[in-house]
Amino acid sequence: DALRQAEIKRTKTVCTYCGVGCSFEIWTRDRHILKVQPVAEAPANGISTCVKGKFGWDFVNSPQRLTTPLIRENGRFRPASWDEALDRVAQGLRDVARQHGGDAIGFIGSSKASNEEAYLTQKIARLIFGTNNVDNSSRYCQNPATEGLFRTVGYGGDAGTIRDLQKTELIITVGSNLAENHPVIASHIKQSHKHRGQKLLVVDPRKHEMAERADQFLRIKPGTDMVWASAMSKYMFDHGYADEAFLAQRVNQVEAYRASLAPFTLEFASEITGLSVEELTSAAEMIGQAGSVCLLWAMGITQHSHGADASTALSNLLLVTGNYGRPGTGGYPMRGHNNVQGASDFGCLSNVYPGYEKVTDAAIREKWARAWGVTPEELSDQAGADNFMMVQHAHEGKLRAMYITGEETAFSDADSTKVHEAFSRLDFMVVQDIFMSRTAEFADVVLPGCPSVEKEGTFVNTERRIQHFSPAMNPLGDSRPDWWIFTELAARLGHHWNYPNPGAIMAEAAGIAEIFAGVSYERLVGWQSQIWPVLPDGESTPLLYTEKFKFPDGKARLYPLEWQRPMEEADAEYDLMLDNGRMLEHFQSTNQTGQGGRMMSLSPNWFVEISPQLAQARDLKEGEWVELKSRRGTVEVPVVVTDRVAGNVLFIPIHHGKPGVNGLTGEHHDPDVNTPAYKEIAVSMTKLARR
Ligand code: SF4
Repeated sequence: DALRQAEIKRTKTVCTYCGVGCSFEIWTRDRHILKVQPVAEAPANGISTCVKGKFGWDFVNSPQRLTTPLIRENGRFRPASWDEALDRVAQGLRDVARQHGGDAIGFIGSSKASNEEAYLTQKIARLIFGTNNVDNSSRYCQNPATEGLFRTVGYGGDAGTIRDLQKTELIITVGSNLAENHPVIASHIKQSHKHRGQKLLVVDPRKHEMAERADQFLRIKPGTDMVWASAMSKYMFDHGYADEAFLAQRVNQVEAYRASLAPFTLEFASEITGLSVEELTSAAEMIGQAGSVCLLWAMGITQHSHGADASTALSNLLLVTGNYGRPGTGGYPMRGHNNVQGASDFGCLSNVYPGYEKVTDAAIREKWARAWGVTPEELSDQAGADNFMMVQHAHEGKLRAMYITGEETAFSDADSTKVHEAFSRLDFMVVQDIFMSRTAEFADVVLPGCPSVEKEGTFVNTERRIQHFSPAMNPLGDSRPDWWIFTELAARLGHHWNYPNPGAIMAEAAGIAEIFAGVSYERLVGWQSQIWPVLPDGESTPLLYTEKFKFPDGKARLYPLEWQRPMEEADAEYDLMLDNGRMLEHFQSTNQTGQGGRMMSLSPNWFVEISPQLAQARDLKEGEWVELKSRRGTVEVPVVVTDRVAGNVLFIPIHHGKPGVNGLTGEHHDPDVNTPAYKEIAVSMTKLARR
């Protein structure tokens, strides 16, 4: 027994399923994952994990893993050596750049890969090909939230830590199904609500678990949150709840903003949101009387045609009530993927270098050029194409090559029919992934990457916390860490970076990007972590805005807004609105949770939720099948009858199906940030004959 114990390896790792960033020990014997062991020292989660973190690791040993590079030949993939595959990738990208310029290539980095790998993705795009065409899946989720924070307070991250949430008097969640998408944060809030008298206000079209637990639940009409938040701000001013001292000392544009609120009466808000004046008044009183407020929001806000405005309105409300800069206050956009925060922080965005340093700022560009050993003229001074634009440009023939790492764009991007057409029109496409994804089926070369338990690196969680993880096992077959692949590819393109390990990549990034100045692997040993901005001496900033907001004069900005209707609404033909989102047991396209393992067995089926009233009106019983039809396409799915939804709103999970929910979504997007309006789908529903 002692011998068997000696064979067990315990490795600290960080969960790859959501932005909470739970860390724990993973116990392995060779490639066998024996168990996940939470530890009290884990900074974000302590001894808590959810079902995915605990049991969702079967995919690591799935027989479906890619274990060798693949090259397309005569319409079929054949195995290839790394040398041949990387030569082919270098040649393919070089050919496109020579013929059409570097801006004809687009790079989508992975929100599941490490910070160091995100850094190298954007470095290849910017330094080697001179293009800012680089992005990550935050375009599909949290960019509107980041934009809202940039407009009002300055940093694109949560104002405080996850543990700070326990210090607030009132938690507000808006458009966030916390119990399924960020389960460990939800359990912290449940504890504070139950045992410490914390109040909970939930605003959502769907009565999910947190809504059931809330002191007040506002079942709001989808896409109208901006009106709700603005009406709350007006109420604060009108009823003496605005923090006038805070506004006078720390906030600009107060009067202009106050004047812009004139239309947002409770009566107007009631008409738009579907909430009664009494419900709105009660919520406003709850907010106004709270000594401290933390406001959490997620895809229910951002995945709309005006998600940036709705996010801005929420941050405005926090400013009006003085809820920034003190423990237990602030805005918390909930990051979805495990490293969507880090992929953005480390520069996989089309307009900023790592650390959110603008590509259009000449001094910044000069700094990065000097650090990378080139002239500023060799780096593009124009913001590049983001994910949305890349697909449009590929469809139009302007973008000729794409390099996609760890993103299931063919399934997860809106309007998947158009995405598939766009991919088919590319001259050259590379996909780097751990599985033969639906996106990889369009590629010319497929490169097998590694999951986090087979490599070293760091992730940033939703609270801006940088955490290190170590390899628990060797790469499977001939798969390789993404940082190794990027380094080898760069060498073939004439850039010999020779990073010996990911720590060297982080050291380079920290030496250039101001917000990572004091980040180092030495300071991330064991259960240590750092929260950016990190000062040169290594000191973290767990709570933002204690003295200054991130604007030149240190003051925040209230940002006036006008109400704009959703781009797609129900009408006579498409009379229902299809809400959509994640389930606890699954992650996005199910490429990880759907590999025949435990998670799939817990939740194998697709369904659409309809209300009891709608079921009665349409003569539908639980389990019967319907066709959902949007202006783009159709899907067939069985119904679940539940009061989680009401009226003409349906809910469908995003994980299953062929084509899946994105056979129904369209081109509508937020013009400020190009995030698809995933949650604005008008559909018709027809009962199908028995299947
Ligand atoms: Fe992983 Fe998120 Fe669950 Fe934590 S809460 S174990 S990070 S999926």
